[in-house]
Order: sequence, then structure tokens, then C-alpha cells
Amino acid sequence: MEIKFEKAATLKEKPADESKLGFGKIFTDYMLVMPYDEGQGWHDPVIKPYGPISLYPSAMCLHYGQTVFEGMKAYRTESGDIQLFRPEENFKRLNESNRRLVIPEIDEKLCMECLNELLKVEKDWVPHTEGASLYIRPYIFTVDPFLGVRPGEHYLFIIILSPSGAYYASGLDPVNIYVETKYVRAVRGGMGYVKTGGNYAASLIGQDEAHKQNYSQVLWLDGVEQKYIEEVGAMNIFFVIDGEVVTPQLQGSILPGITRKSVIQLCESWGLKVTERRITIEEVAKAYDEGKLQEVFGTGTAAVISPVGHLKWGDKVMEIGGNKIGEISQRIYDTMTGIQWGRLEDPFGWIVPVK
Ligand SMILES: *Cc1c(COP(=O)(O)O)cnc(C)c1O
Repeated sequence: MEIKFEKAATLKEKPADESKLGFGKIFTDYMLVMPYDEGQGWHDPVIKPYGPISLYPSAMCLHYGQTVFEGMKAYRTESGDIQLFRPEENFKRLNESNRRLVIPEIDEKLCMECLNELLKVEKDWVPHTEGASLYIRPYIFTVDPFLGVRPGEHYLFIIILSPSGAYYASGLDPVNIYVETKYVRAVRGGMGYVKTGGNYAASLIGQDEAHKQNYSQVLWLDGVEQKYIEEVGAMNIFFVIDGEVVTPQLQGSILPGITRKSVIQLCESWGLKVTERRITIEEVAKAYDEGKLQEVFGTGTAAVISPVGHLKWGDKVMEIGGNKIGEISQRIYDTMTGIQWGRLEDPFGWIVPVK
């Protein structure tokens, strides 16, 4: 499929100080937009200047939340090449989300082509600083001007790009996490396993409560018994208990993170024992009391590895590993970021160069 190009009249100034990029605040010159219309399918992708889009106030996405998204990054290697980390996995998951939200599936190869073309146009926006990257946000939403509740017949697939700073300014600072015991994020049979806006809307109240108590993120428990550990707001969670790496098994309410999957593969390649199973918050607290809880860390595209320094469950505050990053967490972080920024060889075939 031909990808059209509409040239911008002027280009923005690239950020001079990459240490001040932050996350998701500035956007590049161009975006990719591709409509879907019933009868026609996905058609006429165009790369055009980044700017406002026009929607009817009755657009169904605004009322009923039929939206899905993805998140990944483009990395610049020391030699100046640009590369992606397992992007096919993101587009595969986008279709998983589409199926759950009754959005028409999209050709994953076409998505890759669209992304590749957009990145070729915008390659100068990929930051040069170690740790900084170009965040990529593909998303789909319905635009039908209609107030009845049904799947849309018209959609937009858009990719926007946002240069983002290093997640950690200096070293890996452990985060403090609050275990949410009142609200739940997702239930089995619901939408927890896909990236759709509603999940994040549902999680804001927990995040808000955590912030009020000076915790930065929420650890969600299962939606039925509030007993089993699920995940953090936008990260999967891992525990190292007595030498064993444990992470909650995927069972329909947890997002199948690509970082999670990669971390499991990596740990197994090192001969570590990795178990995907149900794990209760009581078990974690007990392991802590017995001195067996060695490391806790979150995994996700944004931070790669986020060591947990404190875990608060009711009145109990657990300090993990003396509020310092653990040995396994550090090794995973170094290896993953080494592969992503091209400093280390990629024995897994995870890297896709942008050409
Ligand atoms: C995106 C996301 C993750 C992490 O997924 P990655 O593919 O590793 O970036 C974990 N949990 C939730 C809820 C997410 O939205």
C-alpha cells in the first residue's frame, strides 16, 4: 500500500537539552494517519504534519471508549543507527486488543511499514543521549458520529512520536509502591489483558490515593478476592523469593508485557528458576518476614526495570533490599538496555533496525 506524504510548511526546532525532555510532552513534526471505513477496510495511510484532528462531538470514542493503543521506543545506537525492540510483538498485541474491543484487525506488516516510513522521515528526532529514546504511540479509535452503543464502522489508526528523556536521571532509583485494597483495576473476562483507555481511567483513583500517601505507584490485587497480586499501573511485577524469580501468571486480567516476556526469557537463559504462578500478597509479606524476599521489581517499556524500594500493604511497610536495587534487577537492566541501545549483542533476535 502506498503511503502518501504531506510536507509541513515549517519544521520545529529539535530540543537542545535532551536531559529536560521528560515523558510525552513534545511531539515530532509528523504523524501517520490511516482511516478504516466499513466496506473499504484500512486504506490510504498518510504521513502528515502533527496537529489537531477534527472529530464530531458525537464521535463514539468520546462516549463509549472504543479505543486501543500501544507503546514502544526507537533507540539510537552509538554508531547513529536507529533500532526497535520487538515491534512485531506490539502490533500483534494491538490486534489482540482490537479483537477484545471489536475493532477491525489491522495488517501487522502494514503497521510495520507505516512505522518504518514515519521513522525514516523523523529519524533526526531520535535522541542522541544515552537512556533517552523516541517514544512511539500507535493507537486506534472509532470516529462514528452516533450515540447508540455498538462497534464503530469508521476508525482512525494514528502513530505519534515523542522524544523522551532517560527514565532514571541518576542510577536506578527504587520506587515506593502502595498495595491497593479497596479498588480493583480489572477482572478475568474483562479488559485487563489489553491496552485500552478504560483500564487506565479505572486505575486513576488508585493512583490518586497512592500519591496522597506519598507512594508513586499502585500494586493491584485480583478483582475477585483481592488476594492475588496482579500488576502495577503500567508495569508487570516480579519477586525474587529465596533465589526463585516469581511473576503472576497471565490469566486474563494482567497485561502481557513484552518486557515481562523478555525478562523471563533472559532469566531462563541465565539458568535462573522462573515461575509464572498465582502469588498472594500474604505470601510476599511472609517471605519478607522470614527474610526471603530478596528483590521486587516492575517491568515495562518506559522504565525497563523499576526496582521497588518500599511496598506498603495496609499498615505494613516492607523495605526491600535496603531500598537499593538488587543484583538480578541490575543485571536484567544492564542487559536489556545494552541490547536496546546496541551496546550488547542481541542473541535473541529482538532488535529490528530501521532502514
Ligand atoms: C503497557 C503495560 C505494561 C508493560 O508492557 P510492556 O509491553 O512491557 O511495555 C504492563 N502493564 C500495563 C497495564 C500496561 O499498560
